[in-house]
Amino acid sequence: MENRHKIKIVITFACLTALSFFFAKQYRKKRKQSRTCCYLKTESKPQASFKRVLADNSYSPFKHLKFSESNEGLEHPYKAKIDALLIEPFKFKFLEGNVDMEMKESYVWVEKEAQLEELVDILSNEKVIAVDTEQHGLRSFLGFTALIQVSAKGRDYLIDTIALHDFMGILRPVFANPSICKVFHGADNDVIWLQRDFHIYVVNLFDTAKACELLSKPQKSLAYLLETYCNVTTNKQLQREDWRQRPLSAEMVKYAQTDVHYLLYIAHCLALELKQEDTGSSLLLETSRRSNSLCLQLFSKDIEASPGESSAFSIITKHLSYQGGPSSNIIYSQELVRRLCTWRDIMARLHDESLRYVLSDHAIVALAHRVPVSNAEIFETISQADLTVDSLNQFALQSPSPLICSHFEDFHYLFQDKLSDPEFDLILQKHLGPDGSCPLSIYNYALLSKINLKPTDRLVSKQNGTKHAKRVGKKASRLLFVKKFSCKAPVYHNCRIYANDGRMLCYCDRKKLEWYLQRGLAKLVEEDPPAIMLLFEPKGRPEDEDNDFYVQSKKNICVGCGEGNHYLRYRIIPSCYRVHFPEHLKSHRSHDIVLVCVDCHEIAHASAEKHKKKVASEFGIPLFVHRVTDSGQAPPLEEDGSSDQTANKETGVSPLQLRTAAMALLRHGSRIPPSRREELMQVVVEYYGGKEISQDDLERALLVGMTPLERKRLKKKKGLSFIHSTSLIKNVAKKNANGMMSDEVANLDLTSPVDDTLDSTESNGDVLISTQSKLSLLGHGPHGNQVVDHILKEYGDDGIREFCQRWRRVFVEAVHPRFLPSGWDVKHSGRRDFGEFSVYHRRSKKVLE
Ligand code: AMP
Ligand code: MN
Ligand code: ZN
Repeated sequence: MENRHKIKIVITFACLTALSFFFAKQYRKKRKQSRTCCYLKTESKPQASFKRVLADNSYSPFKHLKFSESNEGLEHPYKAKIDALLIEPFKFKFLEGNVDMEMKESYVWVEKEAQLEELVDILSNEKVIAVDTEQHGLRSFLGFTALIQVSAKGRDYLIDTIALHDFMGILRPVFANPSICKVFHGADNDVIWLQRDFHIYVVNLFDTAKACELLSKPQKSLAYLLETYCNVTTNKQLQREDWRQRPLSAEMVKYAQTDVHYLLYIAHCLALELKQEDTGSSLLLETSRRSNSLCLQLFSKDIEASPGESSAFSIITKHLSYQGGPSSNIIYSQELVRRLCTWRDIMARLHDESLRYVLSDHAIVALAHRVPVSNAEIFETISQADLTVDSLNQFALQSPSPLICSHFEDFHYLFQDKLSDPEFDLILQKHLGPDGSCPLSIYNYALLSKINLKPTDRLVSKQNGTKHAKRVGKKASRLLFVKKFSCKAPVYHNCRIYANDGRMLCYCDRKKLEWYLQRGLAKLVEEDPPAIMLLFEPKGRPEDEDNDFYVQSKKNICVGCGEGNHYLRYRIIPSCYRVHFPEHLKSHRSHDIVLVCVDCHEIAHASAEKHKKKVASEFGIPLFVHRVTDSGQAPPLEEDGSSDQTANKETGVSPLQLRTAAMALLRHGSRIPPSRREELMQVVVEYYGGKEISQDDLERALLVGMTPLERKRLKKKKGLSFIHSTSLIKNVAKKNANGMMSDEVANLDLTSPVDDTLDSTESNGDVLISTQSKLSLLGHGPHGNQVVDHILKEYGDDGIREFCQRWRRVFVEAVHPRFLPSGWDVKHSGRRDFGEFSVYHRRSKKVLE
């Protein structure tokens, strides 16, 4: 007996030792993989593709649809419609004629925007549809809808709400339409999930679970109803599957389809029973009343006084309660539980993970008891704690999670003996700050708006070596660039404008707000942030267009990556085109000027330049004025009439080439190697038609093609004298490209905003342009002008709109912006009427500029 006992102890000990070795090894392996890098930098989750989320992981309250119009923002946007249904019942008819309820294998998988639009058309003609949703909760902080199943007229539709996440609003009218009855089973959660993810509000609900309640059924589960009415058994285990996976397994498809396919039939049967059991008060109406009361629920985020507080409370009362007086040990453990819960809450939000994915309650208890000192011990403590409850872990989760493994260093901070409170801001700063370890996302960027991140100055480093110095140099110049060009103050002031009936119209900047105030067209109704109420009836409301863009608080962050510390304005439609648009198509500035960080700016700009080249070749309109020749103050050297052939011989040089050559010669002259100097000189000579070049000529060449403003700047910089000259411009490439005759082209070509600067000469298409032209020949101005004129002439306003959409697409494809204001749309129409008092109204325009 004794021996056996000893052997047992030895074996246990050996096992424990082996386990420790195993954990230590595992830990070292993991740590090697993920020491420096947040796991999210290499792992991508489906929700990373969402461009907009309505409920982010910040602590700010959820914003419901159209809340601006209701008093405190507390009412349901469709309250009136739902209230009406509580009084006037819906004419229930769940099935028409004899329907074969047997479920076929076939279903419609909806994953494209166009398919969803088609589905809306189909559903809009229905009187009743059945709906169910599947959620994913483990790898998301608030959870998201991964699938919506709809059944109508015997057909089952599975909507891929991950692929269609940003388009689901298309379904809003169907769900809000009171003359389409939506049958759910147990809609309590679905109703709220649909609000959270898509601003979809259910109006006119028939909940089969509520019918069960009123019929006093022995059970009210869907599985029970399916068995009783349809003789179908389901495996409810499947509801806990990972519904993010694509493609869905055949089993999951069948489960999802079953959940919705029989629902109309079941509703039909239950409605019959409700009618039969009717004893005076209408049970059917009562079912509808109770169902629609569910619809009045509103999604809201759980807000705690301090992050993680409620978990800490529940863990302490469940696991750390103690008898007798408090010992310092227990108090310390409790304190640790609080710190760990706070940390877990923040980490879950900023990585968009569920609490249980980050760190289980069991692991928190174990850590608080043992207070491990090394990373290996932390690893072991967590994985052992989870091992004991692993039977519950149907996802076979890795423990500790990759999140823990890539952020071990945080524990040392949390386990510090003297720490009053885990510094919320400090944790955030460390992970999401300018040099933070974790990626910014659409879910976590709003967390940052709570704290004021101070720019850190870490340019000076002890490290040396040229490579490093280069990097630092690059970073420094980037910072300088940021400092110089980024917006000095928040660009959008988030001032609000209300209509005279108190409904919110839009957000705007202070300038616009002051404009109305100064003219007595509005009164100030709130100070900080300021809000005004218009004293006249505005022309049109934002919701008229079903466009919430103008009622969007714009965030002062890069629309591309969410960077909030610096940003520049970026014009999605390049100025060289936009300035030539007709006035009424220019009014959408707020839509087509976005904020981007320096990095996204670089990407956007590069793609825009590429696209300009494409436009140039498509329209046959070169980006640059190709050739300029001097108007011939000096006669050409040859006197055999060759000057008559200038047009045919394509003499002349590009203005940019000329300028560069002149600049180099003036600046470096004798220091340039002779052969190169000769080349440069040749360019200038060609411009002057072959004559000998003087210093004065060189200086004049510098100014060719410049606008008066550009000249003025140059003059200021270089102290150069201002010289009037005229040049003979000939746009050669234009003629080559699309064979349009030059007479007509010439006139379009270089039309300058000021008429008297343009003067057409001779019939060969050469144009005499005064150097006073406001249109720079060095930039893309002439190109932009021609392109816009061409589009207007050929396709009119619609052509310009189409052109704008192309530019937006170029921007979206290059930058993949994830932080565009909701309502921003590639297809933004540009059709907007401006009221008499609008700052965009023609008469008022000047004042704002
Ligand atoms: P159902 O409509 O019954 O298939 O459930 C809808 C969604 O609710 C599922 O996709 C799950 O995400 C979630 N759900 C419902 N019941 C459970 C449960 N017992 N455990 C985990 N998740 C559940
Ligand atoms: Mn379901
Ligand atoms: Zn991270």
